[in-house]
Amino acid sequence: MRIGDALTTAPCILCHETGRHVVATTGRGMTPLVTVICDGCGLVSHDPIPTIEELERFYGDRYRMAYKGRWAPKPKHSLRAQRSAVLRAARLAPLIAPGARVLDIGASSGEFVYMMGQLGFRATGIEPNAGYRAFGVEAYGVDITDCRLEPCAFGAGVFDLITLNHVFEHLGDPVAVLGAISHWLAPGGLLFIEVPNIVGVAKQRANLFHYAHIWNFAPHTLTGLLARAGFQPLPGEKLDGTSLVFARSPDSAGAQAGADPVHWRNPPLVAALRRQLNEDQSGTAYLASGAPFRRRWARLLRNIDEITTARRYAAPRAMADAVLASAAMATAPRGPAQSRLAA
Ligand SMILES: [Zn+2]
Repeated sequence: MRIGDALTTAPCILCHETGRHVVATTGRGMTPLVTVICDGCGLVSHDPIPTIEELERFYGDRYRMAYKGRWAPKPKHSLRAQRSAVLRAARLAPLIAPGARVLDIGASSGEFVYMMGQLGFRATGIEPNAGYRAFGVEAYGVDITDCRLEPCAFGAGVFDLITLNHVFEHLGDPVAVLGAISHWLAPGGLLFIEVPNIVGVAKQRANLFHYAHIWNFAPHTLTGLLARAGFQPLPGEKLDGTSLVFARSPDSAGAQAGADPVHWRNPPLVAALRRQLNEDQSGTAYLASGAPFRRRWARLLRNIDEITTARRYAAPRAMADAVLASAAMATAPRGPAQSRLAA
């Protein structure tokens, strides 16, 4: 198989088109990995999509490693996760009512669950990785369950906010997961999803695709999948990005807006993405762009800062409290989601 080859496969999960074009044949580390773009909507994915069994096998090694003895992130990684979590908390807390129920899917070592709990919300997480989960429970005293999504039974309408931070692109069956989320969300509930954006990404081709990221979303394909599942971005969200807060469409008004798969066909996006992915193929072009040097420099500065900061704290929890305090955010959330929705 070669780049540019045309394929016919199962109907696209977004637009139902069966035509694809190959955009890459290797993944990170030059491992064989076929990546295709949908001819209809521009959704970029592996071909074929891994089965649940294949994904379990892939993640199996990491799980086994985590089961062996005590696993713990380096302090600088805890700090990075805490800083990212506090930014999400600051963004999402004002959108929900005080004491709202929050579920973080793919909670990792529990930093976001902890921050939201400290802000007065009833927060819980799902994390399949035993090592991360055990660390989060021990270090932050948070509630993280080990249920996989499919058999996990929370009941209907039990959460006011569900979050997936860099998780949605890993899912073998994102449509099924959106169905479960719809069931778990209370009326007026919100859904936060952040995924990498493939549009305009400046990475060397050899590092662009990897097995764990099954879907490579553009804003159009992300909002499309969500719309087909009955979710619309909140007013004011940045629609040219892939970090968005969604609300369930009211049943009467516009519940069917975008439900038709054909609505999401987007030939200009397909052409633009194919052009983008055909460019900067070579390592030389990537080097010439200067991006790797800027990236390395930024990473070095970040490392120095993280290591010196993390050294000041004896435990991850004390560090998390300091991160939260320094974020200088209002501790009391403002106003229910409905007021924002009505705006
Ligand atoms: Zn498609």
